[in-house]
Amino acid sequence: MAAAPTSALETLHRVFGYDAFRGDQAEIVEHVISGGDALVLMPTGGGKSLCYQIPALVRPGVGVVISPLIALMQDQVDALRNLGVRAGFLNSTQDFGERQRVEEAFVSGDLDVLYLAPERLSVESTVRLLDRGKIALFAIDEAHCVSQWGHDFRPDYLMLSSLHERWPDVPRIALTATATETTHKEISARLNLDGAKHFVASFDRPNIQYRIVGKASPQKQLLELLRTEHKGDAGIVYCLSRASVEKTADFLVQNGIPAVPYHAGLDKRVRAANQSRFLREDGLVVVATIAFGMGIDKPDVRFVAHLDLPKSVEGYYQETGRAGRDGLPSTAWLAYGLQDVVQQRKMIDSSEGDEAHRRRQAAHLNAMLALCETVECRRVQILNYFGQAGQPCGNCDTCLTPPEQWDGTIPAQKLLSTVVRLRNERRQSFGAGQLTDILLGKTTPKVTQFQHETLKVFGIGTELHESEWRAVVRQLLAQGLLAVQGDYGSLVLTEASAEVLSGSRKVMLRREPERPAGARTSRTR
Ligand code: ADP
Ligand code: ZN
Repeated sequence: MAAAPTSALETLHRVFGYDAFRGDQAEIVEHVISGGDALVLMPTGGGKSLCYQIPALVRPGVGVVISPLIALMQDQVDALRNLGVRAGFLNSTQDFGERQRVEEAFVSGDLDVLYLAPERLSVESTVRLLDRGKIALFAIDEAHCVSQWGHDFRPDYLMLSSLHERWPDVPRIALTATATETTHKEISARLNLDGAKHFVASFDRPNIQYRIVGKASPQKQLLELLRTEHKGDAGIVYCLSRASVEKTADFLVQNGIPAVPYHAGLDKRVRAANQSRFLREDGLVVVATIAFGMGIDKPDVRFVAHLDLPKSVEGYYQETGRAGRDGLPSTAWLAYGLQDVVQQRKMIDSSEGDEAHRRRQAAHLNAMLALCETVECRRVQILNYFGQAGQPCGNCDTCLTPPEQWDGTIPAQKLLSTVVRLRNERRQSFGAGQLTDILLGKTTPKVTQFQHETLKVFGIGTELHESEWRAVVRQLLAQGLLAVQGDYGSLVLTEASAEVLSGSRKVMLRREPERPAGARTSRTR
């Protein structure tokens, strides 16, 4: 029953109104239409949906799409219906009547595409339902959710390994926009896709300019970016907490920038209204937690800004990938500071889950820190992270303004020996603020209280400014030469610190290029 390749192209023209396939789409579509399994790694905006929608239309039966994005199913189904495609979904948000109508349509073959939440498959009645209809294919969207190594693991996805056993003749296509080599292998193994054809697109998004700046006063830095480079543009600003989402949205509005908040704590209707305003209006900024954006298809997002450090490179790549789907120049901007590192290390230490889980989180954070502190091309770093090669791009901050490297061994030794002394003398550890005050020889109340002005190291670090010391701390943390412990962000040594203290290890640091006035505290020298 294999369809002629022309019918795929014909469907592309007739239903979707597009002239031609992009990239690997044609090959993927053909492969699935002829009954083959496929694993597709393609960046956001690459056009993954058509890879299963067209085979679903061309092959006899209903294309069953497994997706974790329950909140978006209605939108996805509406979009397909607008194109004349018979689409429906089954998830926990429906009442009995709705569900029954969709089930009947499925059994009678009056559907082209059925979206299914993964947890539905653990319900025996759903499995029986699927047995009663004709299935054209299984599409497993956001396939990285099956990977425990990945950043977005969903236990429900583990059940998807049984699809092949239960329906061996139905082709499966798994798709994801984010996969390191490790995740790629894990998806393949867990979903029994080792025999499938793997399509790996380039993860480069050449129109996105990557920039990572030191965090001084993030809201003002953001405002300056928007005023100087993104006037009237639509964009997304990511913050870690709901509180900072609200504050930042207020701040932008007060400064004349149309902005709305989006986070899981908002009333459902407000959230939906803000999201649809963002999709429909020009030049609206949405300030959001990472709850926002999965599956959102707005082509002209001109910038994605992060005011807090993402937890992984995968997350960063996925979030920044929402910029510039239309291929036009766009900015991915991240402000990152010492406090981010301290806070995230604390979160990992206090997180639930086993030791292996914490180790994975720490590895994700370390990779993110390495990206922040690199002196090399950001794009090359990102591509390498996803196991792909690249050339310095000329379109990221490190390419445009190469940061200097400097030999920070002596400052590192001064800082680490201060940590040693504080621990030895008081059996107590202190955070970056106190360390910096001691190195700079400041007699603050807290310095006096602990008699830190009597330490040998008091005032030995006046060659650097406070902000520079903070950058040293941050980079030592990133390089694993210093660690954070306890609830108060106390700094402690690591095994590797000894090599620096003994002089057997050199420490190279990154000097941030000068930012425009106001972006960071100025520096002499
Ligand atoms: P992904 O799921 O990979 O992020 P989508 O499937 O949402 O990407 O596609 C991104 C955008 O590109 C959508 O607006 C889609 O309609 C458009 N698109 C995809 N394939 C083509 C094509 N062959 N020709 C024109 N536009 C396309
Ligand atoms: Zn570059």
